[in-house]
Amino acid sequence: MITRKKFLKIGAATFAGAAVGSTLFRKKDVLQAGQQTVTETDDVRQIPTFCEICFWKCGMIAHVKNNQVLKVTGNPDHPLANGRLCPRGTSALGIINDKDRLQTPLIRVKENGEETFKPVSWNAAFDYIAEKLQPIIERHGADKIALFSHGHGGSFFKTLMAAMGSKTITAPSYAQCRGPRAEGFRLTYGYGVGSPEVIDMPNARCVAMIGTHLGENMHNTAVQDLSIAIERGASFITVDPRYSTMAGKSDYWLPIKPGTDIALLLAWMNVMIQDEIYQKDFVANNTVGFEQLKEHVRNKTPEWAFVQTGIEPEVIRKTAHLLARNAPAAMVHPGRHVVWYGDDTQRSRAIAIINALLGNWGKKGGFYIPASYPMASNGSPPYPPEQKYHFPDSMYYPFATAIPAQSIVQASRMDVEDIPAEERIRAWIVYGCNAPMTLPDPEGVEKAMSALELLVAVDILPMEITGYADVVLPECTFLERHDDFDARPNRTPYVAIRQPVVEPMYQSRPGWWIAKELARRIQVNGESLERYFPYNNQEEKLKTEAELSGFSYEEIKSRGAVTKSAVIYDYNPQMRFPTPSGKIELYSDVLKEVGFDPLPEYYPPEEPPNGYFRLLFGRHPVHTFSRTTNNNVALEIFGENELWVNAKVADYLGLKSGYYVTLENQDGARSDKIKVKVTQRIRQDCVY
Ligand code: SF4
Repeated sequence: MITRKKFLKIGAATFAGAAVGSTLFRKKDVLQAGQQTVTETDDVRQIPTFCEICFWKCGMIAHVKNNQVLKVTGNPDHPLANGRLCPRGTSALGIINDKDRLQTPLIRVKENGEETFKPVSWNAAFDYIAEKLQPIIERHGADKIALFSHGHGGSFFKTLMAAMGSKTITAPSYAQCRGPRAEGFRLTYGYGVGSPEVIDMPNARCVAMIGTHLGENMHNTAVQDLSIAIERGASFITVDPRYSTMAGKSDYWLPIKPGTDIALLLAWMNVMIQDEIYQKDFVANNTVGFEQLKEHVRNKTPEWAFVQTGIEPEVIRKTAHLLARNAPAAMVHPGRHVVWYGDDTQRSRAIAIINALLGNWGKKGGFYIPASYPMASNGSPPYPPEQKYHFPDSMYYPFATAIPAQSIVQASRMDVEDIPAEERIRAWIVYGCNAPMTLPDPEGVEKAMSALELLVAVDILPMEITGYADVVLPECTFLERHDDFDARPNRTPYVAIRQPVVEPMYQSRPGWWIAKELARRIQVNGESLERYFPYNNQEEKLKTEAELSGFSYEEIKSRGAVTKSAVIYDYNPQMRFPTPSGKIELYSDVLKEVGFDPLPEYYPPEEPPNGYFRLLFGRHPVHTFSRTTNNNVALEIFGENELWVNAKVADYLGLKSGYYVTLENQDGARSDKIKVKVTQRIRQDCVY
């Protein structure tokens, strides 16, 4: 029988007796040599770093006086910020000053028969964790320890995992958000589309957005690029059951029936091929499988698609022609969150294929070829051989290039037949992921968490995951710590620094230090893992890496980012793609070999039961994940979600704006109450 793990609330009272920890805390440990600090006598200083409210990582300037951040602004020297932040980045003050922040390490204990959190010293927390992890490594193997990681600071915990020999690493964002897009494009081009996406939006002349709502989704540079494209007169086609902000900027709004995107995409292909308006030279030089594709879409006419999607055939024809007329400076945007109906990888394949018909890979106004600075590593010893967790067939996805979080959840449970006891995953380290709220099947997640021998949550604020943890480790915020350099592939290659702009509050500590201290206490083959963290502090590591890579550390530190220009449109007809054929694979033998459709096929989604609506969801401009739900700056702007209900439906149901309702899904799960917003901006069969 599984005993459910009790959810423990963390509040101010939890830390009331935390003095024991503070006696062990030495503030000087946190301030590294050469780090900029602010004294009482300093005037306002501007210290560059990069943002972590979402994961776009825009360059930020913190305006600091007397160890207080007064405001944050965008760094003009950083190519993802260009001097601006999005509304969420601007709310960074709300995180650092959040009165609910985790203050000291906590361990779950039983007192008087009741489970509770006890504030402990960092040493006590590390010793406790090491005592639990060591026997798991020795008896069951390091692969039975899993890491959930989301955010730039996760890199130190990935090093810790590699040092232990475990590859059991996941990010919920893979299977729950953008994994199908990555694999759909990889199966077609051999490349994913990256983050930031390799989209040359400023030079595009026509863009179709299908299920993506830039403008409400506020990834900073993406929205800046969109504004430039709008200003330059680009045409937009928005496909969305809801009249989004993007739809309001578009030449066409296609209020599609949810779940039928593939039908529309196939019909667009049909028009482009039948009317011979696709990029013929590009397709002939760079693709395989065109004849099979042509045959496949022969009957997928706009009239056929109208029945599925509800979009008039004439509109389908006109929009296909609008895209083709502007090619190759035209694209169907690959989206970002693409997980909806189970056909998501094929849907992304269809988007990838239609872009090939538009001939826009490596072209101005299409998909650019990104560049990056190769950064040298500061050289740790070779890692031990990886122990790769072998998932049973029921949890195995042949084309997944990362482990879906749900597979780790399944493999951690005691009640899943395919997982014998000796194969069970026994410990989770959760960095910056609010797993109970992020993952589907909350009951299954709770069963998995209850079965673990150890659940460590590294976070900044109390949230659902910390309430279920055995040990809670308070990381300091991104404004209080060094992390690794950011040097991702981009249109303008760059290397950017995250550095502390103020001292950490309470006893919170940086992730690099937490991972290093844990490594010091864990042994593999009789040797401590500390040798995988061969530096005294993170700034020392950054300095070494900058020097080895030919940069001036002082320049990166003072400017926040250094950049160089790069050639971004390097299409040539002999271009090779990293696919089995070396070409863009419109038809995929690889998919066929394992029994999947080699070309995207449309299967109508199951209709909702009578009286049910499709639930649409998306982003709000001032909120992101669980990271802003307690942020008083963000909440002041938008403090409460609303449920969009079509005006006619609302009239029929007797609902008015401001009424509260609860939602129930087909499994009987009920939501909390939510305020109704009556609007004409949504189809009648949906709520948002
Ligand atoms: Fe921060 Fe906004 Fe940039 Fe995300 S997009 S990193 S929240 S400024």
